[in-house]
Amino acid sequence: ELLRWLGDEVGNPSSTHAAGRALRTAVEEARERVAGALGAHPQDVVFTSGGTEADNLAVKGLVWAGMERGRRHVVTSAVEHPAVLEPAQWIAAHEGLELTVVPVGRDGRVDVEEVLGAVRDDTALVSVMAANNELGAVNDVATIGAALRERDVPFHTDAVQAFATQGVDVAAWQVDALALSAHKFGGPAGVGVAYLRRGVPVVPVTHGGGQDRGVRSGTFAAALDAACGVAVEEATGGRAELRDRLVALGDRLAGGLLAIDGVRRNGPEDPRWRLPSHVHVSIDGVDGEALTFALDQAGLCVSAGAACGAGAQKASPVLAATGIDGDAAIRLSLGWTSTDEDVDRGIAIVAETVAKLRAVGGGAVR
Ligand code: PLP
Repeated sequence: ELLRWLGDEVGNPSSTHAAGRALRTAVEEARERVAGALGAHPQDVVFTSGGTEADNLAVKGLVWAGMERGRRHVVTSAVEHPAVLEPAQWIAAHEGLELTVVPVGRDGRVDVEEVLGAVRDDTALVSVMAANNELGAVNDVATIGAALRERDVPFHTDAVQAFATQGVDVAAWQVDALALSAHKFGGPAGVGVAYLRRGVPVVPVTHGGGQDRGVRSGTFAAALDAACGVAVEEATGGRAELRDRLVALGDRLAGGLLAIDGVRRNGPEDPRWRLPSHVHVSIDGVDGEALTFALDQAGLCVSAGAACGAGAQKASPVLAATGIDGDAAIRLSLGWTSTDEDVDRGIAIVAETVAKLRAVGGGAVR
């Protein structure tokens, strides 16, 4: 789909001539596909350049709209992706608002009562992620959403990590805004979705030609939007099968890693509250940096902290918020192409690498 609309079809999707109309049709079909998968109305769907832009639009757009109603308080959680935490901190500092950052438990989940307890009459927005990118911790967004709707407090959730395996139902979750990123469910990087419930006031972040309800101006990226639409539909159709496969692979991976001496699993214990794609472990007796370097050399790509930064390995604020020692803590993630053989090879590489590093006192080069 991407190549089709990047190739011979040229035109501006907002032009009224035939070339433009063909591209516009592709965008609108994609919008309908996304809306169908979310349980939303097509007009609630705004295409963005990815999860980061969708989160920024939701956070800033809803907070500014709330300020127009005299609201001056924002609530978020300590383990949000920087795409939420940074705009929340920025707007609070820039506009002189109060920001409450709700802590998380050792498993990386928020306590629903703590989130709701932080809400005030002048709360402009609550933003709590559906699933965490490092620990794979899944939050009870439906319970938070129901309580906030009752209190007329706008609710945004970052569902970037949740969509592929958990699915999203905007009606059941009672969210007013939600962010998705296509590269997390099989689409290309550089396109995402902001679900913005019609009727909920949102101030645009990008002003210009007035495309997409005037909320997000700019020429539609027809090829990316169309590819995102197809990816959403395929991810939705294949979700149950993918989940089953990843649960089995994740159990195999965790079982193999936990059989290594001094390895502990992090994140929620209850499989209902964790993504099947994420296995996060802490390993005793090895240096974290030496470990990720040696694993990479051995052909195993793991993450320590978020990959979204500048490529440098930084201490993970997510782990700091949970109280887990972030030094030798790594995330292994599974995807569509992962096989039993990959998992077994991964376990063997970790076991060998850990043994080698422990033999030299942990492997720290300082
Ligand atoms: N939110 C979460 C939870 C993520 O994991 C990511 C990316 O990894 C983003 C937002 C940002 O999405 P994008 O890379 O499409 O900007």
